[in-house]
Amino acid sequence: MSGIRIPVEGIDGSGTAHATSLLAPNPSPMTLDGTNTWVIGRAETVLVVDPGPDDDAHLRRVADHLAERRVVAVLLTHGHHDHSGGARTFAEMVNAPVRALDPSHRLGGEGLADGDVIDLDGLEVRVVGTPGHSFDSLCFWLPEDRAMLTGDTILGRGTTVIAPDGDLADYLRSLDQLRAGAEILEAEALLPGHGPVLPDPVGVLDGYIAHRRLRLDQIRQAIRDGARDARQIVEIVYAEVDPALWPAAEMSVAAQLDYLKSL
Ligand SMILES: [Zn+2]
Repeated sequence: MSGIRIPVEGIDGSGTAHATSLLAPNPSPMTLDGTNTWVIGRAETVLVVDPGPDDDAHLRRVADHLAERRVVAVLLTHGHHDHSGGARTFAEMVNAPVRALDPSHRLGGEGLADGDVIDLDGLEVRVVGTPGHSFDSLCFWLPEDRAMLTGDTILGRGTTVIAPDGDLADYLRSLDQLRAGAEILEAEALLPGHGPVLPDPVGVLDGYIAHRRLRLDQIRQAIRDGARDARQIVEIVYAEVDPALWPAAEMSVAAQLDYLKSL
């Protein structure tokens, strides 16, 4: 059983039986309500995933929430600043290492990679490599809660962008892999890096995959209709999207053009 909790007042405090979100105060069009810092654990030992930006009040609040529990490690879903900016400060605050795929974000000796399993008082956390949004994106599967922490690979609302350090072909493979995993493992919840907890993981992943196919078709059509660069494509394909998000859309279009050229 996932034991999904969705508080009426919003995202802060949402989660599953063994995972709780503490919302960082960095809302924006790109980060939605702000970054979800996840605390995972069953008993005395916990993992803290994505401390968020280097915001002292937020990091203090996370440390206070832990009370007497010991942080085994700080994990990063990926290195983007809204997830990792406070990692070093927080790690020093709680005297724990930082583990990430990208060596430049680690503190202490240990890395983090696809296939790693972390044991927290018998609670298993499995690391799944999901490159695409960024080259270093990881998801964390909690079998006991039938839940998956998805970082920016899947967001609680809307869809994610392919960042300049990401890759669309990788992202499409990661979505297929997550979808297959969610079905086989009977996942019941996605715990995103931004936005609310999502029930129905298979349905959400199907939606993401369909959305990517639709955008690629629209981009092919825009090129046939005479669009010459990423900006012109955005103006056609993302016409209904808030122009504040157009720079992000342009990033995604650039990634999609690279992908179409590579086919
Ligand atoms: Zn990101």
